[in-house]
Amino acid sequence: MATHLLLNKRLILRSAGLAACAFTALFLVRCSDGDSAIFVKEPLPYSQDALAPTISTETMGLHYDKHYAGYVKEANALIQGKGYGGKTAEAVIRMTADDASKAAIFNNAAQAWNHAYFFKCLKPEGGGAPEGLLAEMIDETFGSFENFKAVFLTAAKDQFGSGWVWLVLDGETLAVITGANADTPHAHDLTPLFTVDVWEHAYYLDYRNRRVDFVKAVLNNLANWDFVADRLEKALPPKE
Ligand code: MN
Repeated sequence: MATHLLLNKRLILRSAGLAACAFTALFLVRCSDGDSAIFVKEPLPYSQDALAPTISTETMGLHYDKHYAGYVKEANALIQGKGYGGKTAEAVIRMTADDASKAAIFNNAAQAWNHAYFFKCLKPEGGGAPEGLLAEMIDETFGSFENFKAVFLTAAKDQFGSGWVWLVLDGETLAVITGANADTPHAHDLTPLFTVDVWEHAYYLDYRNRRVDFVKAVLNNLANWDFVADRLEKALPPKE
């Protein structure tokens, strides 16, 4: 009976998977036998005009529908038939991180992941200050929330060329780090908590060359600290 149920469940899952493939094919995801599409174009958690004027509707539309969608499509195309079937997006990133021959897969996979996460770090009428454990750990690590913002903005300014600024969990300690191009905390055994994209495509239409003004506006108006606090709680080992 158990086997029978399992087989039925598999059949249902397979049917559902094929239906999902047909559906998601509309959203630039490729499906084929063997390798399922590992990278999914995740829906924006708000409308494309919801973050204006901090991030304009034009910037959001290009960022989500062109840049992010492009990375998702390319990442799925590059892993086809390469034996990544059944892997998670994070696993593909870790498997390709230190292999120059797999740089194209890493770059597109990491960019797909980073963008999906970045969009979740934002919300309309965000900003303000974090609360609870996140606030306590920020105070402990950086002295104050204001100091944390200063450290984050300096990191954004000092990142030479395209990249990302991150608040990460390193073991049980917070840290601000930057990464060039597609680099991602997953490649360094760090847990991503909050990020801002500092590629020029993220801000040039709205802020021209004023990258720090863009990052400051994101921190003050859009940062979704509830989301970050939730990620922190899930990442920390359970208290004894
Ligand atoms: Mn971007």
